[in-house]
Amino acid sequence: MAEALITSWGRVLRARHPVLSMAGRHAALPALPEGSPHLLAFGNGRSYGDSCLNIGGSLLAMRQLDRMISFDPATGVLACESGVLLDQILQLAVPQGWFLPVTPGTRFVTVGGAIANDVHGKNHHRNGTFGRHVQCFELLRSSGERLLCSPTEQAGLFAATIGGLGLTGVVSWARLQLQRIASPWIHNETIRFRSLDEFFALCLASDRDYEYTVAWIDCTSGGKQLGRGLFMRGNHAPAAAAPAAHRLRVRRFPFVPPVSLVNRPSLLAFNALYYHRQLGERRHSVEHYTKFFYPLDGMLDWNKMYGPRGFYQYQCVIPLPQGQAATAELLRAIADSGLGSFLAVLKLCGDLPSPGMLSFPRSGVSLALDFPNAGPRLHALFERLDAIVGAAGGRLYPAKDGRMSGAMFRDGYPAWQPFLDHIDPGCSSSFWRRVMA
Ligand SMILES: Cc1cc2nc3c(=O)[nH]c(=O)nc-3n(C[C@H](O)[C@H](O)[C@H](O)COP(=O)(O)OP(=O)(O)OC[C@H]3O[C@@H](n4cnc5c(N)ncnc54)[C@H](O)[C@@H]3O)c2cc1C
Repeated sequence: MAEALITSWGRVLRARHPVLSMAGRHAALPALPEGSPHLLAFGNGRSYGDSCLNIGGSLLAMRQLDRMISFDPATGVLACESGVLLDQILQLAVPQGWFLPVTPGTRFVTVGGAIANDVHGKNHHRNGTFGRHVQCFELLRSSGERLLCSPTEQAGLFAATIGGLGLTGVVSWARLQLQRIASPWIHNETIRFRSLDEFFALCLASDRDYEYTVAWIDCTSGGKQLGRGLFMRGNHAPAAAAPAAHRLRVRRFPFVPPVSLVNRPSLLAFNALYYHRQLGERRHSVEHYTKFFYPLDGMLDWNKMYGPRGFYQYQCVIPLPQGQAATAELLRAIADSGLGSFLAVLKLCGDLPSPGMLSFPRSGVSLALDFPNAGPRLHALFERLDAIVGAAGGRLYPAKDGRMSGAMFRDGYPAWQPFLDHIDPGCSSSFWRRVMA
């Protein structure tokens, strides 16, 4: 057992944890060190707040379980260990004509992490969440049991583990259904919109014919420009669409600056430039999948640019029809506050049900924004946003959260009570203790 200083992606919270490891996927869960009451599986630490931390307990490092088990290129069924990164799956599957059925905005998350947060992506309106494409997985419980879980076997534990925040046990391996593609290329169209009304009209006009839709929104603009942004819609392209030459560049953010580089002047300048980055109202392009799905992965360690105090992400989903008015109210509150970031994403989620008891995605409008950690001023804004989200029947995403109240969590996730029956008594997290306190 080693001890290590672990921080989550937002870099607000950091603490030393005993870090345990697994000898292999067939091995039993390791014994807890003396004084540690529980453990939490730790994937690749891409959760922003405290859902991947277990301060006062232990973490179980899952990245070591990084082997592929089987892949059938005829059917696209893949079995792998839970510490495999989505990036590893893409490297194996894309050259053979297969792709992830659902992917979040970074490919550096593990399969176990994708299951435990039931992640979603730009095709939520078509494919729903990651968990819908999981055929089965093995769950290790602190009792020593190894349970094969699927929609028909151990169905209760299957539903509790998908989106279950690592609290029902440790997933050792999983079997997934991938999706056929013709090439690694995406036909992308970017359309400038001037208001939320235009955004919703674009969603309605696009969701049938486009597999991927998402919008960047200028969170600094209020008044007549409230809700302006860029709408991206795309489909997988045939191999013949590939450009003659292309270069994939990955850089690394080199250091933690003494203060956040994201501040009011840099934000205003960036947002205005980004909104006007294309000359015409519409721009067509053919993009490699890494650029289309994972623009942030092109700059490793980009989270350091927020300086030593780190940052928060606020992500909510609000059902329609209240979603439209509530989104306008949220954007007004954010613009008035002068806080916010250039990372502001709006997406209309579809109505395919999520399989997990505590899955975040639901039909409605989802807004996600990063905020440099500005202390009490930011927390006052968050309370205002919570009130708008709560009144409109929405909820916040635990994977992105490090501060919501227990009441906000329990109101947003009424299945928390039946979920309690499935928790492994040997597992816990800082997030869970906070929202259950
Ligand atoms: C740049 C960026 C973009 C993102 N975009 C999106 C997005 O578009 N959509 C979206 O849904 N999310 C998004 N996320 C969030 C991210 O997808 C989730 O937080 C994901 O769960 C992180 O996976 P991880 O492997 O890093 O797990 P960690 O963050 O380490 O852990 C997450 C949870 O998974 C549990 N867990 C990990 N492994 C196992 C296991 N083997 N068994 C049981 N439980 C386990 C942990 O206990 C914890 O509760 C984004 C994150 C970043 C940094």
